Amino acid sequence: MGDLSQKITGFDLWHLELPVTSRRDHGIGSVEGVCEVVILRLTSEDGSYGFGEASPWSVFTGTPEATFAALNRYLRPLVVGARVSDRAAIMTRAAYAVAHCTEAKAALETALLDLAGRICAAPVWALLGGKCRDAIPLSCSIANPDFAQDIDLLARLQDDGVGIVKLKTGFKDHAFDIMRLEYLAQNCPQFSVRVDYNQGLTIEDAPNQVRDVAQFGPDFIEQPVRSHHYGMMAKLRRLTDVPLLADESVFGPEDMERAAREGICDGVSVKIMKSGGLTRGQTVARMAAAHGLSAYGGDMFEAGLAHLAGTHMIAATPEISLGCEFYQASYFLAEDILEEPFEIKNGQVIVPNGPGLGGTPDVAKLNHYAVSKAVAA
Ligand code: MG
Repeated sequence: MGDLSQKITGFDLWHLELPVTSRRDHGIGSVEGVCEVVILRLTSEDGSYGFGEASPWSVFTGTPEATFAALNRYLRPLVVGARVSDRAAIMTRAAYAVAHCTEAKAALETALLDLAGRICAAPVWALLGGKCRDAIPLSCSIANPDFAQDIDLLARLQDDGVGIVKLKTGFKDHAFDIMRLEYLAQNCPQFSVRVDYNQGLTIEDAPNQVRDVAQFGPDFIEQPVRSHHYGMMAKLRRLTDVPLLADESVFGPEDMERAAREGICDGVSVKIMKSGGLTRGQTVARMAAAHGLSAYGGDMFEAGLAHLAGTHMIAATPEISLGCEFYQASYFLAEDILEEPFEIKNGQVIVPNGPGLGGTPDVAKLNHYAVSKAVAA
């Protein structure tokens, strides 16, 4: 057993621009060219290290610049000189040291868990309560405005054994969404289909369009309207028997409480980048379950390091029962940052059993893709 009482001495940051292989359109915006993430490395007195990733998206959670500043200026002083064992105290202080910036807090807790896990040779899932599953069904998003390219992707997903796809809707027009749902129903009956509007509908259009889409019987329909339209979410939920999922409407436990009280959803997307960490993500899922609501493991535009953090959280959280969408490292980035590929087998994400996160970023890649960094010489 390693020494968790040792102090954290190093705090290094990289802001990366990672090239991507296709354009992705969502109801609230697009990603094209690169996706931007911020990587944190903590080092302790005996030379052990732990990594965490923040994966912000400006239209959804926040910006990479704000994430970098939150970590570098406001969270660094709470961490350097603290003991590795003081994770709960550090995260409590972090919650109040800077408002919002949930992706920065997720990166911090990930790095603290990775560091503690490496020091005591335990996987992160063990530090989060133990494991309830060894593999997690993967959902891959269909979000290319050029549907011909997505048809190629569907063939690749089928070859890889992926059984769930999530159709991103509400970024072009209703006819485009219906055409793609018809294509999936006729040509790809082997896939379980989920629909995600990412807030793309107006309150005027939402009732009719959601009713039309529900006719296709998707597993669920996610976040048709803006995050703050709780009343319309509750109304849409009553319009159809297809479960309605909340994503942008529910960031952390505080939103989950209100969402359950106001009856806006049948389930929730749990993301460490929204909740501000893995333990708060677990809290969201447990609150959902206590209200009879389901949960799945969502993500942002992430590299493999954030995927690993989400994988450990889901492995330790039985309430997150609808799978995950950690597809970007394998199906979206031109090159991931991990030394070993993020493991997916037969359409399932494999839960790592090694110490910490069970995977490490390649520092040469961090330096290669960095547009700014704060790294000790
Ligand atoms: Mg979503």
